Amino acid sequence: MSLNPENSAPRRILLATRNAHKTGEVRAILGDGWTVEDLLAHPDLPDVEETGTTFAANAALKAVAGSRHFPTGWVIADDSGLEVDALHGEPGVYSARYAGADADDEANRQKLTRELRAALQQNPGRLPTARFRCCIAVARGGEVVGQFDGAVEGLIIPAARGEGGFGYDPLFIPEGYQDTFAELPPEVKNRLSHRGEALRLAAEFLQTEKSW
Ligand code: IMP
Repeated sequence: MSLNPENSAPRRILLATRNAHKTGEVRAILGDGWTVEDLLAHPDLPDVEETGTTFAANAALKAVAGSRHFPTGWVIADDSGLEVDALHGEPGVYSARYAGADADDEANRQKLTRELRAALQQNPGRLPTARFRCCIAVARGGEVVGQFDGAVEGLIIPAARGEGGFGYDPLFIPEGYQDTFAELPPEVKNRLSHRGEALRLAAEFLQTEKSW
């Protein structure tokens, strides 16, 4: 199914994020029929505190906050992260701030590599299995009207490889592949990814909505 609405002007949505990498992926996944604005165009709006303990809860918090500022439009929010089995699902919802509140991607990757190496040394039989998860919340008029999940299974490698993507991409090899998400072409990542899966479901939902 094409994600592009047929015979109509582009559908305009607000993506409640200041993460330009997420916005870039969302634009690429949705394609030409959509106009995606993000919060980088609205520096005046306060950041939302991600106090939830699940991806769904944090996606809802972000979507509702965005929607209160744009009550007549469609707002979507992505909450996502990496779950590593040998680390009991960490960093999970804390993926963006794993190495501290102001940690950058590099610091988070270094902490992950360190923690995973220690965990696997203690338990050498364990495989470095992991998955990315994403929840997309759709809001309108200050309320969540839909939530959509995606996940992609894979393995964590001991040292970063590749220049593409963001976050933990250089450490993650999706199941069935030999390259990391940072080495694979973006269109391959977007086809396989947690974000791609959740967003395609959200787009199908939005296409059935009449009030554009
Ligand atoms: P959020 O902005 O609170 O949803 O945090 C998302 C964090 O999870 C990012 O900062 C990354 O660390 C990680 N993450 C989520 N999706 C991806 C991805 O597609 N590739 C790599 N890292 C990701």
